[in-house]
Amino acid sequence: MLLPKGFLDEIRTRVRISDVIGKRVKVTRAGREFKACCPFHKEKTPSFTINDQKGFYHCFGCGAHGDAIRFLTDYENLPFMDAVEQLAALAGVAVPKPTKEQKEKFERQLSLYDVMETATGYYQHQLHAPKNKKILNYLLERGLGAETIKSFRLGYAPGEGDELKQILIKKGFPLDLLVEAGLLRHSTQRKGEVYAFFRDRIIFPVTDFQGRVIAFGGRILPPSHGGPPDKTAPKYINSPETEIFHKGRNLYGLSYARQAIGESKTAIVVEGYMDVIALAQAGFKAAVAPLGTALTESQIEELWKFMPEGEKRPVLCFDGDAAGQNAAARAVDRVLPILKPDHSVAFAFLPE
Ligand code: ZN
Repeated sequence: MLLPKGFLDEIRTRVRISDVIGKRVKVTRAGREFKACCPFHKEKTPSFTINDQKGFYHCFGCGAHGDAIRFLTDYENLPFMDAVEQLAALAGVAVPKPTKEQKEKFERQLSLYDVMETATGYYQHQLHAPKNKKILNYLLERGLGAETIKSFRLGYAPGEGDELKQILIKKGFPLDLLVEAGLLRHSTQRKGEVYAFFRDRIIFPVTDFQGRVIAFGGRILPPSHGGPPDKTAPKYINSPETEIFHKGRNLYGLSYARQAIGESKTAIVVEGYMDVIALAQAGFKAAVAPLGTALTESQIEELWKFMPEGEKRPVLCFDGDAAGQNAAARAVDRVLPILKPDHSVAFAFLPE
């Protein structure tokens, strides 16, 4: 973000979002809110609501959701900063010039998204390469359909070679960015050398709610499919935290689940990547999971944001065994202090 803290909030309070949208779309008052036919999907009866108190719009048809800035970037196809400029002019305030430091940080974030996207494409390509047919077959054997594999952008990180590094360097990404992104690691044994962090693992790209890849989860292969025979290697490894990835805040699957959640499908929080994918494939599209840790307060609040009003009650799903019960008890401890009207959770236990 190139702007000082609080500046965007100032714009949001000074500009009425219904004015911004009302200039572009026909809106009608409905109680304390406004209604309109959603400009982001085709419809005849309005399911698009605008709330000036909250400064947000929300579509119950397609899940489109955001503030005035988001509306302008999506509706007018404006770059983020252009939308901010336009609203600032409307609010009668000047956009502060970014410092050199802020600028560098912002550009670094953009490069991180870029590098993650390129790596995703590489891993996906590897999964479908003829020489790795065994890996793809493993996923198919586990019941995943080709469509599911494609939509969740599953991939494979080869066990040997440094092809990914070569490709990324050739594209102009600096080596230290690849280390920062968590794709490469410095060797502790041989000074100056780097190695690929994900090796011989199935890759689950983790996206933010907009669908941008921000991290990877890597799952080990079973011994039957070329995985290590001993059980010392961790089953899952995850990208480190970066400027764009905060594991306590992001939720796996949210960009896929967003639409279903907006359509009032009950959000289901499960334990892992595979649970989310299996549920989605079975028709439960509103499933998400924390990222290798217990569910945090921020993740629950993030989820509530995307759920329609009056229905903010995600179902936290746990295994029926002792570990599951313990995890649920810990979740209760975290959730209790943040509960408020229309912000709750429900629990589901699977049979042992
Ligand atoms: Zn819509």
